[in-house]
Amino acid sequence: MSLKTRLLGLAAALMIAASLASWLAYRELSEDIIERWGQQVAEIQVRYDSARLLQSLEREIGLARQMADSSTLIRWATDPDNESLQGEAIREMESFRSNFRDNSYFVALRDSRHYYYNNADNEFVDNQFRYQLDPDKPEDAWFFQLIEEGRDFHLNVNPDTELGVTKLWIDVLMRDDSERIVGMVGTGLDLDAFLQDIVDIDQDGITTLFVDYNGAIQLYRDRNYIDFASIIKPEGQKNTVDLLFDQAEDKKKVLGMLQMLKNRGDGSRAVESSFVIVDGRKHLAGVAFLPAIGWFEITLLDLETLLPYSYLWPLVAVFLISLLITVIIFHLIIRSRILKPLISLDKAVENVRGGNFTLPQLDKPDNEIGRLASHFETMTDTLRHSTRELERKVEQRTKELNRLARVDALTGLKNRRGLDEALSDEIQRAQRLDTGFGLIWLDIDHFKAINDELGHQAGDDILCRVALWLKAGLRPYDHPGRWGGDEFVVVLSPCDRDTLQQIARRIRETIERDSIRTGTPVTVSVGGYYCQPGDDVDTILRQADQALYRVKTLGRNQVFIVDETGQEINPA
Ligand code: GH3
Ligand code: MG
Repeated sequence: MSLKTRLLGLAAALMIAASLASWLAYRELSEDIIERWGQQVAEIQVRYDSARLLQSLEREIGLARQMADSSTLIRWATDPDNESLQGEAIREMESFRSNFRDNSYFVALRDSRHYYYNNADNEFVDNQFRYQLDPDKPEDAWFFQLIEEGRDFHLNVNPDTELGVTKLWIDVLMRDDSERIVGMVGTGLDLDAFLQDIVDIDQDGITTLFVDYNGAIQLYRDRNYIDFASIIKPEGQKNTVDLLFDQAEDKKKVLGMLQMLKNRGDGSRAVESSFVIVDGRKHLAGVAFLPAIGWFEITLLDLETLLPYSYLWPLVAVFLISLLITVIIFHLIIRSRILKPLISLDKAVENVRGGNFTLPQLDKPDNEIGRLASHFETMTDTLRHSTRELERKVEQRTKELNRLARVDALTGLKNRRGLDEALSDEIQRAQRLDTGFGLIWLDIDHFKAINDELGHQAGDDILCRVALWLKAGLRPYDHPGRWGGDEFVVVLSPCDRDTLQQIARRIRETIERDSIRTGTPVTVSVGGYYCQPGDDVDTILRQADQALYRVKTLGRNQVFIVDETGQEINPA
């Protein structure tokens, strides 16, 4: 696998790993942020919603308490048949009616079980007595239940079938001086308007509801869940808050929070919060106890609506884009600083390995690879020079060897191969120019005897001297050579018949004369042949050899030159 593929793979793997890690970190972090933020918001929202409810009810409750404390009403309640007291009481009630927000009131007397009511339209003026409460009627049970429980104050969401209205009732017990319950007074608030004001507010993602001391739902935007007339329902039949949650665990959690706040019971305004699932969506439930009315306020925050995870997506997008840009920049840098220089270096190495020392333009960044490329260039330069030097030396040596291969080691004249080449050249030249040339063949007379008498070394010396004398008798452009043993051959060119004859004689005489002076006289027999254009090597050598043989048979130390007819040239 190439480095480029590996790097790309590595970059992709890094990108995936980083994305995965940041996704997990993002999930953790965003959940944590949303949770912390949600808890703060839940707390604020719970306090805010509670305050709104209390603010809205405070004045009404205060007025209802004031009404319950009215001595006129208490006196009448203890003596309900007293008409003058009743007249006074009715006036008192009516004065309260104009003060209640709903402009309505009710008064129920314990002893007479008479129920008095008038509304904003003053519909029942002079006719405030509406009906008599009946302990056997389920719809009247609330009255008897509240008296039995003896709770001085109670909020009650109840449809009044007699009156045909559904209201949030504020019920306050009326007691005489001996603390005996003599009746009940209060007012009602129109449930629809109240729900709209308090719980049906148009706040996306925020649900507010109020539950009573037992967890029964009292105020909720969906009226189907409201536990109407909760006071008279036995446990287990109430619409309690746990109905809103799908999971048993959440039901337990919320009821547990109510219980915890109830147990504190010190009127603390602490807020409990926990995550729950409502309608399949994650919500943060905040719960506070409102000791003034004995209810709980529950706020459900739909976190997905209030702070969707998608709000944080731009963060992830920015991260991923910067990661991608980083990887691309990283890849570009690696490509230009490492990959490209390496590829050009690899190509250069390939060239050199194939014997081509001409390097392509190498990429040389300012790093280790750049320095490596520079070193490689220098190394290739050195290699190119030393290879050239080597080639030059080999050529020189080859020339020298070629030369030596054509030279006789003892005398320094041409050897047989050298003579062969010179003769061939001369044959071609003669043919080309259509001229003749000469060839002389010498053999030292009785050389064997010299060897035998004076020794081999002395024989060698004589061979060397004969070579020198031979050269001395020749022209610079003649080709003398040692044929082998004590035989010498000379190729003479250009040359005519007379010159051939003269040179051959001069050589013989020189050797004879000069050798005497050395103290070891030697003579040579000289055969010669005047070659014609068209003569081949064999013919020429045979003719010269035969001429030499002739001299030997004639008694040695003579010259015998023949022409192409076999006739001696210029016989002496
Ligand atoms: P001839 O007059 O008939 O030529 O008699 P020769 O004794 O010279 O007879 P021949 O030419 O046949 O003998 C050549 C001798 O040369 C034989 C050999 O011992 C001797 N010889 C050949 N090569 C060398 C050499 O390199 N050095 C020496 N010292 N002697 C050589
Ligand atoms: Mg001889």
